[in-house]
Amino acid sequence: MKLKNMYECMGISSGVFAYGQKTEEELEERFTEIDETAEYNQLKVLHAMQKCRVSDIHFASTSGYGYNDLGRDTLEEVYAETFHAQAALVRPQITCGTHALAIALSANLRPGDELLAVSGKPYDTLEEVIGIRPSRGSLAEYGVTYRQVDLLPDDRFNLAGVREAMNERTKLIHIQRSKGYQTRRTLSVAEIGEIIAYVKSINPEVICMVDNCYGEFVERTEPTDVGADLCVGSLIKNPGGGLAPTGGYIVGKEACVENCACRLTSPGLGKEVGATMGVMQSFYQGFFLAPTVTAGALKGAVFAANIYERLGFDVLPDGKESRHDIIQAITFGKPEGVIEFCKGIQAAAPVDSFAEPSPAPMPGYDSDVIMAAGAFVQGSSIELSADGPIKPPFAVYFQGGLTWEHAKFGILMSLQKLVDAQIAKLPSGF
Ligand SMILES: *Cc1c(COP(=O)(O)O)cnc(C)c1O
Repeated sequence: MKLKNMYECMGISSGVFAYGQKTEEELEERFTEIDETAEYNQLKVLHAMQKCRVSDIHFASTSGYGYNDLGRDTLEEVYAETFHAQAALVRPQITCGTHALAIALSANLRPGDELLAVSGKPYDTLEEVIGIRPSRGSLAEYGVTYRQVDLLPDDRFNLAGVREAMNERTKLIHIQRSKGYQTRRTLSVAEIGEIIAYVKSINPEVICMVDNCYGEFVERTEPTDVGADLCVGSLIKNPGGGLAPTGGYIVGKEACVENCACRLTSPGLGKEVGATMGVMQSFYQGFFLAPTVTAGALKGAVFAANIYERLGFDVLPDGKESRHDIIQAITFGKPEGVIEFCKGIQAAAPVDSFAEPSPAPMPGYDSDVIMAAGAFVQGSSIELSADGPIKPPFAVYFQGGLTWEHAKFGILMSLQKLVDAQIAKLPSGF
């Protein structure tokens, strides 16, 4: 059977298929660049694994206290080596990205200290961690104050604003690499390096922490290569490679990471405890695959931008821009666009493809939200997924795909739904 016929069997019309093929052909150069980054990062991870002498024995399971868990300790060395950092904490006991960030903050701030966010409002879930929205157990309850400097209208750092906001109580600087659910640009590692250098020129003692979620392996360098003291993320995003069933990581300066370990477990126990209960092989293997899995997701994001940009929809980043994370936003301007897009992503999934997503109220959101995910790991967003709040400008946020082939199919399926519902129209000739 020809590829076209296989797609037809799967519900993709010849017009949508042809438009997809044409778009893909034009992306050859971009895709080569993405492959070269993946190749570079594959060697970086491999080098770390070889240097740390990763062996069969490291995949063994531990229980109870988890004393002398060789696999866990060696994996933390592998992460530290890959990120060119002094130390790492990589644990299944870190439940998600928000938890990892909450640990990094609460472990390194003390009553009377001030936290300063220099890339604008942090990711939604951190509002309650910090106490921007009052919450039980927030940093605010412990007497840690908060200040924020927004990015300038052109999404550059507001250096004068940062200088003015810094004071003798400023202990930790928060920098968020990815845009999250905002409509700003994602920051490059180089830009992150510039703001860190600027902050350190004012006060070298200040701790610079980067929320690295969705950014890992998109570039050849990571924030720890440009001076970040702490770099934090989730294992059900890029660095878990789709195989890690849960977990989070923190890498950075020895003292900062040690503080995190004492906060995650207990003062005095630190990194010494924490059973791994059989997840180590998937953590190692997922990290090994992460550079190529991230590359597949990145190609999907670039493909989606180009598919929808040419049909007249607003896309962020645009089809040509350089990429610093794997998220793609597409604005449809009406609820039906967001809904049909999500239906397509769901219908393309390997798991729960028969389910039909629909908008519903969600805790923490002020409008209905629609989510599409048919993932092997619950909530995993390195797997193909999409979501969007049902409110103007009616944008959908799309990310992931364990393989480029699946990401491509998901995007074509979303387009098929939009074409069938007459919300999108293929260019003439297709
Ligand atoms: C995903 C994400 C987080 C953490 O989210 P969890 O769902 O708790 O893993 C934090 N910051 C950014 C920018 C993110 O994308």
